Amino acid sequence: MDRDKCLRLDQNCALTHTRDRFALPEEVLYFDGNSLGALPKTTTTDVTKAIEQEWGEGLIKSWLDADWFFLSAEAGDAIAPLIGASAGEVTVSDSTSINIFKLAAALLRQNDGRSKVITERGNFPTDAYILEGIIDLLDKDHELHLAEPEHIMDSIDDQTALVLLTHTNYRTGAMHDMAGITAKCNSQNVPVIWDLCHSAGAVPLALNEWGVDYAVGCTYKFLNSGPGAPAFSYVSQAAIKNFKPVVTGWFSHRNQFGFEDGYQASDSINKCLVGSPQILSLRGVLNGIKSFDNVSMLDLRDKSVALAELFIELADEKLAKFGLELASPRETAQRGSQVSFNHPAAYAICKTLIDRNVIPDFREPNILRFGITPLYMRYVDVWDVVEIIGNIMADSAWQKFTSDVKEAVT
Ligand SMILES: *Cc1c(COP(=O)(O)O)cnc(C)c1O
Repeated sequence: MDRDKCLRLDQNCALTHTRDRFALPEEVLYFDGNSLGALPKTTTTDVTKAIEQEWGEGLIKSWLDADWFFLSAEAGDAIAPLIGASAGEVTVSDSTSINIFKLAAALLRQNDGRSKVITERGNFPTDAYILEGIIDLLDKDHELHLAEPEHIMDSIDDQTALVLLTHTNYRTGAMHDMAGITAKCNSQNVPVIWDLCHSAGAVPLALNEWGVDYAVGCTYKFLNSGPGAPAFSYVSQAAIKNFKPVVTGWFSHRNQFGFEDGYQASDSINKCLVGSPQILSLRGVLNGIKSFDNVSMLDLRDKSVALAELFIELADEKLAKFGLELASPRETAQRGSQVSFNHPAAYAICKTLIDRNVIPDFREPNILRFGITPLYMRYVDVWDVVEIIGNIMADSAWQKFTSDVKEAVT
């Protein structure tokens, strides 16, 4: 492999044209699309139009004239094919943390005296924090069980009230067997919520086929929807009827504009809504999803795998000798769309790279994480990033960034 070969791979790649859908700074090598996706060019014009025309001129009429009222559903239906769901099963509102609360609190309240609530030790913090808060709220009838990843399957039993798992681990990119775990949960009548934050738009998913009833995920990572863009909730057609919302806001009412005194839940996925949707951000979501137009998730996965394997192969050859140790699974089928390394100086290395216009990110305790985003990432970017890391390791440039004080956001 050499740089020219990478350039040729880019020329012949089925997804080369999609990079042009994004407004990316030329001088930056962006490897953090798994934390904040890049800006689609259409977002700028569309959000500007929503502000100037729909809000500025249309004023309140735009709730109907510009379909603001239906944007959560429209965005949900746009996400559905990317995650293997059907129309009417997905809606977009609020944050992932809030959506976890909405689903988990409802499912735990409906449980039949079972006490064990399972999540993974080392899961993304908000997932476990939200569960702790719900258990506290429900008078501590439940107990949070933090299972090691390899023991999750075994810990699911007839005393389990709820399982909440993140499909792709944010630190390592290790993926759970969603179909297998869901089948086990379904056989024990245990509701399972899948957090798809690092999976949606990153790897092919088949929620309907795998029998998944509940899922949440964010849109600002691989789905390119913009900072703080609202998250999605998924409840399967089979599960929606018996789902009883706990956050009973007016957008989840059966007859919202009847302004009735009593609460009655909608029959539809609107059960997962609460209050007024984030209109401007939802425009970002629709444009983020549009960046996947005419791209099959299988082609996207093929390129993601090819980029990651190139990265790993080059890292083995040029970076392992500097102590960068692969933290992601080597096995392709077990790895999401990222390549992570362990290094005791990961934070300093990350800061040094950012100073050189290479943007990965750092995750505690010593993970250097590179998101793989095939819609806009090139083979030559992978070649260049490994060269640059090799350079700063060889001349120890990162050592001048060594500091005990980390910034507020890593
Ligand atoms: C990014 C991420 C979240 C983010 O939740 P917010 O409410 O949007 O801040 C939640 N869960 C996982 C697994 C994530 O990776």
